[in-house]
Amino acid sequence: MIEDILKRGNVFKLVCGAGNEDLEEVENLVALYSKAGCEIFDLSANPDVVDAAKRGLAHAGNLQNRYLCVSVGIKGDPHVSKAVINDNCKKCGKCEILCPQNAVKYFKVNSSKCIGCGRCVQACNAGAIKKRDMAKDLKEILPPIIKKGIDCIELHACGGDENDALEKWKDICTMFNGLKSLCIDRSKLGNDGVLKRVEKFCEKEKIIVQADGYPMSGGQDDYKSTLQAVAMAEIIQNSKLPVYLLISGGTNSKSYELSKLCGVDVNGVAVGSFARKIVKNYISQKDFLQNEERFNKALEIAKNLVNTVKYEYSDNR
Ligand code: SF4
Ligand code: SF4
Repeated sequence: MIEDILKRGNVFKLVCGAGNEDLEEVENLVALYSKAGCEIFDLSANPDVVDAAKRGLAHAGNLQNRYLCVSVGIKGDPHVSKAVINDNCKKCGKCEILCPQNAVKYFKVNSSKCIGCGRCVQACNAGAIKKRDMAKDLKEILPPIIKKGIDCIELHACGGDENDALEKWKDICTMFNGLKSLCIDRSKLGNDGVLKRVEKFCEKEKIIVQADGYPMSGGQDDYKSTLQAVAMAEIIQNSKLPVYLLISGGTNSKSYELSKLCGVDVNGVAVGSFARKIVKNYISQKDFLQNEERFNKALEIAKNLVNTVKYEYSDNR
């Protein structure tokens, strides 16, 4: 049961990206990180992505004790947005260079690869990139995914309209009996707003709260990048609300250690941008799963990251 591994207190969750619909990348990431010991995989809410993740698990030979979580979002949450380049583009190429997903090619955004991180928007001096909201109708998209067999549904509910958030949570609870997760940050709601929202969502059952520092900001492997995630988790911990606590948003190999040093008792760490970045040059190769030497080199890197949570600082609660 997914709850059992959360209770252990040292879960590693790989975030493939709520908007990541690049099937090959998802399959490669899941195969690699599953082999490295990762137990929970966060995926875009798309049946084809779930199938790709299952192929990845089969490749790793780990169909047992591996759990799939799909991510959806409320309107306005950055995790469910995509970048679009318009006619103001001056073709400077800056966005293509800095996109962590290789989603920009020939001044166009490949929507299936874009995760909505917004780095390109910030970098574009011509104001030629806008974010488009991609929040979906959950009643339409979730039933076929639930039918495929998943273990958790995560709602990204940063800011936005309170009624929309509650309505979407209600829809998830009606359709799905398994574990639910709420991913939330305080950029728009502030500390009090976050706690009020969490309180409402965990009224009826124990849920995961994924305390997001700076959403999708990971990339650097230092304490500073992960500080906001730990600070956000501390606010949830101090509230004493009965939830499983994960950290995300700027997480890296220092996150679990920093949470322990700060006395923030998380159930695990969810790593996205950083986990993808450190193996990017390997998993982007066409023959990644067939090339044993390449796979094993990437595996060593992935294991080092997973072990920072699973073994290095674990007290095996
Ligand atoms: S950064 Fe802006 S101007 Fe430059 S290529 Fe990208 S969209 Fe075009
Ligand atoms: S930088 Fe981020 S938002 Fe922009 S295209 Fe790449 S993934 Fe999408």
